[in-house]
Amino acid sequence: MRRSSIALLGTLFIVTSVADASAQFEARSRSANMAPPDVVWRLGDPHDRAPRILSFANLRTKEVITAVYRSDGVYLRSQLDRLDSFLRDHHSGTQVALDPRLYDILWSIQKRLGSKGAWHVASAYRSPKTNAWLSTVHNGVARDSLHMRGQAIDVMLPGYSVEQIRSTAAALGLGMGGIGAYPNSGFIHIDTGALRQWNGGS
Ligand SMILES: [Zn+2]
Repeated sequence: MRRSSIALLGTLFIVTSVADASAQFEARSRSANMAPPDVVWRLGDPHDRAPRILSFANLRTKEVITAVYRSDGVYLRSQLDRLDSFLRDHHSGTQVALDPRLYDILWSIQKRLGSKGAWHVASAYRSPKTNAWLSTVHNGVARDSLHMRGQAIDVMLPGYSVEQIRSTAAALGLGMGGIGAYPNSGFIHIDTGALRQWNGGS
């Protein structure tokens, strides 16, 4: 793993290149569901070196976080670590390294919408045990959910309807990933698996 350090805003961050982080994630969780590694380059101009900022709010714990997860063309490992912890499975207390392409997708949606607000998180990482439990109490929770691989997140964005977010995500034309709309629950599922779309209804 190639690592280098840069001084940013007076603080030393461990940084990982976008390509390296993507390759590492691919190596860790390669499966038939995985999208090809080059899709990250379709998420905006790969030479765009401007800081990418995301904010999240956890509806259950009321925690909030803002992270500059990518800057100068590289993912900032220390910030990805903060997000991994924030987006942990709150039932089991466990966490994994989330696929950073999820952040690029959310960032790209917000850029198109002109939003700088916090994403409200309904669910991100789920341990196999938590997912198995959820699948028994909720219809539409897949037993082999990509939430268990750190490749999916369920979110809502205050001020925007599920349909607005769904259509904006679809318009990114990524050629990969899942988009599941749950208008009755008010959230949308985004993942970095194979290309597919569905309407969960509730
Ligand atoms: Zn989901």
